[in-house]
Amino acid sequence: MPKPDTLLAHAGRAPEAYSGMVNTPVFRTSTVIHPTIESYEAPRDLAKKPVSYGRHGTPTTFAFEEAVAQLEGAHQAVATPNGLSAIVVALLAVLKPGQHLLVTDSAYSPARGFCDRRLVPLGIEVEYYDPLIGAGIADLLRDNTGAVFCESPGSLTFEMQDIPAIAAAAHARGIPVLADNTWVTPYLASPFELGIDISIHAGTKYIGGHSDLMIGVVSTNERYWKPVRQTVYDYAYSVSPDDCYQALRGLRTLGVRLRQHERNALQVARWLQAQPEVSRVLYPALESDPGHALWKRDYRGASGLFSVVLKPVDDAALTRFVNGLQLFGIGSSWGGFESLVTVVHAASYRTATRWQPEGPAVRLHIGLEDPADLIADLRQALDLLHAGKAASHG
Ligand SMILES: *Cc1c(COP(=O)(O)O)cnc(C)c1O
Repeated sequence: MPKPDTLLAHAGRAPEAYSGMVNTPVFRTSTVIHPTIESYEAPRDLAKKPVSYGRHGTPTTFAFEEAVAQLEGAHQAVATPNGLSAIVVALLAVLKPGQHLLVTDSAYSPARGFCDRRLVPLGIEVEYYDPLIGAGIADLLRDNTGAVFCESPGSLTFEMQDIPAIAAAAHARGIPVLADNTWVTPYLASPFELGIDISIHAGTKYIGGHSDLMIGVVSTNERYWKPVRQTVYDYAYSVSPDDCYQALRGLRTLGVRLRQHERNALQVARWLQAQPEVSRVLYPALESDPGHALWKRDYRGASGLFSVVLKPVDDAALTRFVNGLQLFGIGSSWGGFESLVTVVHAASYRTATRWQPEGPAVRLHIGLEDPADLIADLRQALDLLHAGKAASHG
């Protein structure tokens, strides 16, 4: 099997099929014309991805899906319109009314919203678990548990989960393990070797890489491929071939971008740890992080997203700090070329565990800027914590 960097350059390409073109072209279509009515009416196996109708995917869609599947060592993958729909599809594919679902308390909060507002009324019992539970998940598994939904490291709070231990306990009872792998991307992990059955990505983040694309992708082992593909069909999701092209284009440079994001993020995170205003940096790539050993065991690298817990300051000071940053945009999403900041409000939605850090926390996405400039910007903004006067955001 070629190494991940080689797959990034070669997967999802078939120049011989497209007049020698390096990239798989954008195929825009609704209708697919058949030579005869017999051909049109012939039974088709959706799971094998026939080119049959625009909503079911085009060669551009399949090229992107094939590249992600190869990178992750999956049986197959399917694109969805965004990352949240990838989560929705994966959960709906495996769950039935009357079942019990275990979800990490550190999950991306819109995923919790889907579970609480949509799965519960369908008769699915949703239980949140401590992300640090590891093999202890065995005590929460029931005869009617339909799935375990993980995210490691967790959104906003970055706890690493012992996925192999969770998967061993779940598989002993025939229960599938789903994971939102957006942070680690298809490049930095081999999810099926860790025991994950269904791997989910917001391709909106690092796969797109330029903050100009919404896409999701779900990859599965052989067992869960048909249910996931059928669910995408039944819920009528389709993805524009232009977006699939952009996602595949993003994949080509994922490796070099991630190496730079990780290098920059480590430099900024180490610097932050040494600042008197900072209490802790929540980033598994740091040796001091409680999840470092699991991160090192299970992943090949880190992306550029982490949180920082400050020493206690009042809300006005925190606002001065965030508004005072000039190079960090204030906004949702991450994984693009540029640095971003948001304030972490994780305590408000947790139910299984308490998240009560010693001070306020901010989440930083470290982009591809020169880290020395990012550090200088953070230093001048940290100075504003003590300044007692408002500054305006740049
Ligand atoms: C952003 C994000 C999603 C959702 O992706 P969208 O493309 O915005 O729908 C899902 N999971 C995680 C961890 C995310 O950060």
